[in-house]
Amino acid sequence: MDIRDVKTQELVKKYNFKFTKSLGQNFLVDDSVLEDIVNGAEVTEEDVVIEIGPGVGTLTAQLLKKAKKVIAIELDDELVPILQNELGENPNFQLIHKDALKVDFNELIGDEKSVKLVANLPYYVTTPIIVRLLNEGYNFKSLTVMIQKEVAERINSEPNCKEYGSISVLVQYYCDTNIIRYVSPNCFIPRPKVESVVIRLDRLEKPRVELRSEKLFFDVVRSSFNMRRKTLWNAVKSIGLPKENMERAFESSGIDQKRRGETLSIEEFAALSDAIYDEKDKVK
Ligand code: SAM
Repeated sequence: MDIRDVKTQELVKKYNFKFTKSLGQNFLVDDSVLEDIVNGAEVTEEDVVIEIGPGVGTLTAQLLKKAKKVIAIELDDELVPILQNELGENPNFQLIHKDALKVDFNELIGDEKSVKLVANLPYYVTTPIIVRLLNEGYNFKSLTVMIQKEVAERINSEPNCKEYGSISVLVQYYCDTNIIRYVSPNCFIPRPKVESVVIRLDRLEKPRVELRSEKLFFDVVRSSFNMRRKTLWNAVKSIGLPKENMERAFESSGIDQKRRGETLSIEEFAALSDAIYDEKDKVK
């Protein structure tokens, strides 16, 4: 089936659509960005694409040209009839009228082998959506998302950079990260206040490091970045291990307790949290 291109401004006018700021509605109007998102996501006819927040369907139409199927999840009541009207005839298009934070993605993924998430995300929920998609272990091959530049730079950051933080460790624990391009506010209507970035997160077959306890690993990471200016020793005090056990944990992991959390690689966080886990076992 031939798929018509969807032109954002034309549809906004045709349906007299009123933007809702609180839903993060900044629609793409630049064809080169659409092309770069679809190419950057490496969508093929083997792929089922899940799109969060299709808006009036501008990106959706381009995805439908390449993918086996596109499942779009949209929260706004006003957009549902527009999307049905413009794209509903396409047999490979499925629309889900729901909050993406409440969708059971396992139900959508089913037995599909190659599922990719592609989205120009509503910025007010960027981090909760990404964290949920990664933490809940859904079987996505990749997530290609447009997000605020600052968040993308944090996700893509390395130890010893000022952007490096819990979100960098969380995302890189599960994924390889690739910045595809920077996007100016002029590429959207209405114009957002911030610059954006398209980033692709390729899910690793298994997490980057093997851990004794994922929960303890993320507790150590969070404590370390909550107190960025403090030494690791002071930051991980909240874990509540007796002093001598904590000293042994630092010693056996080979991590200097005077270092700051922001200098540790994921492998070093893993070594420290595993050593703390072993010491915790001893004081049980
Ligand atoms: N994909 C379109 C584009 O690129 O032009 C629109 C992107 S716009 C940044 C974000 C879209 O997400 C809007 O259509 C908005 O209504 C929708 N949205 C906001 N919150 C949502 C949520 N919690 N679940 C699903 N969709 C949501």
